[in-house]
Amino acid sequence: MGKAQRLFNGSATHTLYGRITPTPEQLDFLQEQWNALASYLCERLSVWGYPVSTLLQGSYRYGTLIKPLHRGESYDVDVGVYFSWDKTSNQASPTAKQLRAWVQSELQQYVSHAGETVDVVDPPKERCSRAIYSQQFHIDTPTYHLDSASDQRRLACLSGKWEESDPKPLHKWFRDVVDHEHRDQLRRLVRYLKAWAAIEFQDAASARPSSVLLTILAAEACREMWAERFWGISDDTALGLVVGKLYERLANDRRVPNPVDAEEDLNRIPQEAWEAFLTRLAALNDAAQLAESAEDEASAALAWEGAFQFLMPLPETDEVEIIEESSSKALMQVPDVVIHVYDRPGGALLSTCRNEVEVPSIS
Ligand SMILES: [Mg+2]
Repeated sequence: MGKAQRLFNGSATHTLYGRITPTPEQLDFLQEQWNALASYLCERLSVWGYPVSTLLQGSYRYGTLIKPLHRGESYDVDVGVYFSWDKTSNQASPTAKQLRAWVQSELQQYVSHAGETVDVVDPPKERCSRAIYSQQFHIDTPTYHLDSASDQRRLACLSGKWEESDPKPLHKWFRDVVDHEHRDQLRRLVRYLKAWAAIEFQDAASARPSSVLLTILAAEACREMWAERFWGISDDTALGLVVGKLYERLANDRRVPNPVDAEEDLNRIPQEAWEAFLTRLAALNDAAQLAESAEDEASAALAWEGAFQFLMPLPETDEVEIIEESSSKALMQVPDVVIHVYDRPGGALLSTCRNEVEVPSIS
């Protein structure tokens, strides 16, 4: 067991996992919201004469959703909208642009009805429309043609092109890549990596790895790790092993083929930002190695804090007693206090401070 196991996902009052993972209540709330939007869209869009269905996609479906960690960020929920027709039939079929216009227009209608919705991004993004809600989340609606005869999907892009992008096989791959008994740990590892990316790439947005990239890299590393019989290990040790594998792999070869379509490279980090990415991954690897060789929980936590910053809980104060070697005198470490500032109780997170709160200037 790693020394920081209790603080990662164990019995400590605050855990890294607890700090980055939505509560069941938050997940229920998000689910209510996307259910409401999905049934509205299905009903309204079916007037065009094609069977319409929706499917939850992305992090929520993968079980790897993390909380927004900074001011201005929001939960990211993806709901795919599928228009179904048989490509081989002689019937005229809608264009990609038409599908996107229908969805965008219905979202705008929805905004005018639903009280809690705030805005629809206009013009929409190339690959989806987005409804932004006031309660720190947004719902993206990538829109697809579902070919009912072949069970294949293609994404309708705003520019009018159809992108061969079918989320179903990749999700199936992820579901099956590791045994049922290991899947929860894989999901936790993906969440740690996503939290690290959210923290470490704030000042280097172009070098930030995408969620899907981290998810696939973690899954492939875990498959290898478990094939090597690293079973029943704690999350901190497992993360250290996974990060070591990631670093070795990416330092040698930056390509990350989509496991269900080897033609596609999931690594979209531009070449000019690659060094910035690798440097940060190396620092994470160093922190993990340092933590793994730490003698006690406090030193392991401090090592991980180098990567996770304010997200990493430190041991409860009375347990952090460091013996000064020369005098054997016990020194009590002064704990860092992380302060989350909200605009109202249960409201939006305005800022996260350490030890003191910056008072905003009043103009
Ligand atoms: Mg999204």
